[in-house]
Amino acid sequence: MGSVGAKEIPQLLDSNGKRIDGRGLEDLRPLKIEAGVLRRADGSALVEWGENKVMAAVYGPREVHPRHLQQTTKAVVQCRYNMASFSVDERKRPGLDRRSQEISKVISEAFESVLFVEEYPRTSIDIYIEVLQANAGTRCAGVVAASVALADAGIPMVDLIPAVAVGKVAGKIALDLKKEEDNYGEADLPMALVPRSGRLVLLQMEGHMTREELAQALDLGVRGCLQIYQVQKEALRTRYSLESVPSAGVEA
Ligand code: ADP
Repeated sequence: MGSVGAKEIPQLLDSNGKRIDGRGLEDLRPLKIEAGVLRRADGSALVEWGENKVMAAVYGPREVHPRHLQQTTKAVVQCRYNMASFSVDERKRPGLDRRSQEISKVISEAFESVLFVEEYPRTSIDIYIEVLQANAGTRCAGVVAASVALADAGIPMVDLIPAVAVGKVAGKIALDLKKEEDNYGEADLPMALVPRSGRLVLLQMEGHMTREELAQALDLGVRGCLQIYQVQKEALRTRYSLESVPSAGVEA
């Protein structure tokens, strides 16, 4: 254990190579995805991932607001990522800050590259991501939720996009950082993958890694994304197989 000022730095890896929550370096936190959780949205999904709880709601293609953003040749993809003030330990100031603007922009761009935007000129595809509980990796949880919500809305896209943050923790490359690892680790690298093409559509990095570590991190991240992809597909299968079974209950 070390310390910075009055704050103790937790030991991020123990002598057996286990992380603070008992995971190995290549383990994901438990992930649960439920599709179609909101009645008013065209598509929606709730992701519970470790201690993160993130909701995505999707609307469109629909009229563009504000109108001047309308494009004659394609749909605009507008993502709004928002972190609820009750989602973190110290109350977060409500509203759009620079961090949420940046995250909204990178997520909009990621989805623009997989949605068939040219098919829907003069419209908007609106993606709302609400972080209800945060514990690092929320932009990735948002991408995972929004992918499922877009599919739930029936909006055609090349593929679902799984996403995960890889990082460097106590000198080792680790999958899916939690808060303490994000805070006290050496690097954090969120990424989103299009499994069908192997293309990365979101890649950011905070901290430092060597070239070799970066290659190792990308490889681990891709493998993590492929596991998440299975959970996304399962969430959609569950949603639609349940709907196709005639209801045995009492109708409202
Ligand atoms: P991500 O959530 O995608 O990992 P960051 O790396 O910016 O994004 O944030 C890491 C974590 O730090 C968040 O998941 C959240 O737990 C916490 N955090 C971020 N912004 C704030 C804030 N304004 N106030 C308190 N905690 C925050």
